Amino acid sequence: MNLRTPGPTPMPPMVVQALAQPMINHRGPEFAALLHDVTVGVQAVFQTQHDVLLLTASGTGGLEAAIANLFSPGDRLLAVIIGNFGERFATIAERFGTDVQRLVFPSGHAADPEVIAARLAADPQIAGVLVTHNETSTGVTNDLRAIAEVVRRAGPLLVVDGVSSVGSLDIRTDEWGIDVLVAASQKGWMVPPGVAMVSVSPRAWEAYGRARLPRYYWDFGLARKEAARGQTPFTPAITVLYGLREALRLIQAEGLEAVFARHRRIGAYTRAGLKELGLRLVPVDERYASDTVTAFWVPDGWTDQALAERLRVEHDVVLATGQGELSGRILRIGHMGYVSEADIDQVLAALRQTLTTRTAATR
Ligand code: PLP
Repeated sequence: MNLRTPGPTPMPPMVVQALAQPMINHRGPEFAALLHDVTVGVQAVFQTQHDVLLLTASGTGGLEAAIANLFSPGDRLLAVIIGNFGERFATIAERFGTDVQRLVFPSGHAADPEVIAARLAADPQIAGVLVTHNETSTGVTNDLRAIAEVVRRAGPLLVVDGVSSVGSLDIRTDEWGIDVLVAASQKGWMVPPGVAMVSVSPRAWEAYGRARLPRYYWDFGLARKEAARGQTPFTPAITVLYGLREALRLIQAEGLEAVFARHRRIGAYTRAGLKELGLRLVPVDERYASDTVTAFWVPDGWTDQALAERLRVEHDVVLATGQGELSGRILRIGHMGYVSEADIDQVLAALRQTLTTRTAATR
């Protein structure tokens, strides 16, 4: 199967092999070594010298953890929303009792850093800014560096959902001043779902000390304390960590810069191929088109489900359908992690054949 959903993603054979190891005591020395290796490897990919915590969760757990650890009831947060996942982050913060102000940009658009700067200038009460780096539902990547700059100038904490970008796109956590960055194992890391990774800046630790929202499973302080002795507070997803250690070796062997360059190259390759087929991209400005997921409008006469089903049944190519307001109207091709041009060639060939051989009878 050519699994081209934007997570879970395909796994290299070496990772598949690494998953097939015997279980170990998560309070023993083997686990301490595993936790250490993975933490150091993840720090390198995050480009941070600060703490990285490994939580047993999918990406959403990491987002919830960020809110629970940094804020207090009633804190005013600015949620920058360019699609479904931005909306989810805002909803989580709302459910926890913070005062969420939404700054919504239309589907297909990136957030405008100047508009964010203006909102922050107009409201000095804002304690945190929630940003989705790569909006998986629209295939748009925000200019995180520029957003980080305006947020840093204004002073609130910057909390970033990097679930579909960390590990594939260049994110300079420390250099850009990101306080908490959230990633998830099943995306560009090429391993199964089950581990969320969060970086925590010194400023975020100060906020943790003041924060009054309830936390137990997600407690960053507890995770840091246990990590210092080679453990996690609760039973970890040991098997996923085996896979992650191997995947990090592969990323290191390829070189981080080369991994980022491959994603940029394949992103451009995918977009060019779709345009050649006469398909329209969802991002309105290609400068912000994502290099990990490409969203395109399904042609007239098709639904996303119908086209996805034909690709799956006839070509073994699996794409993702639309979400939220784009449901029924778009398809999304994942190209993060273990991906090459040959994988995209198969997708493009399947699309070409399906769209051109369709007869009146099948309409
Ligand atoms: N944020 C983004 C940008 C995502 O792409 C996803 C998953 O697709 C999530 C959050 C949620 O992650 P999970 O499904 O791992 O909880």
